[in-house]
Amino acid sequence: MFLLCSVVAVIGWFMLGHQVDQTWGDALVARHPRLFLSGDKQTCIPGFPLVGDGWRDLVERAVGRIADVIAAAPSASVTLVEIKSKYATLRMYWQGSGLTKAAENAIAEAIDKAEARSACTCETCGAAGVLHRVGRQLLIACAEHAMGGAPVPIEQGWENIHFLRGTRDGKTAIIVCRRYVRETDEFVDVDPSELGIEE
Ligand SMILES: [Zn+2]
Repeated sequence: MFLLCSVVAVIGWFMLGHQVDQTWGDALVARHPRLFLSGDKQTCIPGFPLVGDGWRDLVERAVGRIADVIAAAPSASVTLVEIKSKYATLRMYWQGSGLTKAAENAIAEAIDKAEARSACTCETCGAAGVLHRVGRQLLIACAEHAMGGAPVPIEQGWENIHFLRGTRDGKTAIIVCRRYVRETDEFVDVDPSELGIEE
């Protein structure tokens, strides 16, 4: 009897866990038919979020912000084609047409914020986290979910710094240098020279 109960409990736990993993992604896709392609199985839909539950909030927030942008642009088309983890942090890829430059920028900013937040948020539980190395694998984790890995050292002052390189006066240059502030979910500009970067 004990064995049977244990087996049922394990199956129930597995199904529940599986269901929990699926539910928020399914609900997100169902809530935003303009942003996701349709498919027979939700998990086969190209933009279906293939990330840990700890990133649920930041993915939902980004998708909500993108939905707000296109709500104001009825003739525009935006499709989220991939939401995944790459080099330990979030990547959201999208395609769009009929957007103004301002709308494109707003979508890019929503995604930049989500990607920056993923770099300091445990992918398992959603608490504050840092980059850890576990063998050859990299992951963003809190101490509890670091799988025995060690934090990857980062130079003081460089935490949550994000660059965007572009062309200025015909030369490659840093055109955006900013820090993501997890508490406020905002970027603040940083002078590259404060980081010892002279260009
Ligand atoms: Zn965690």
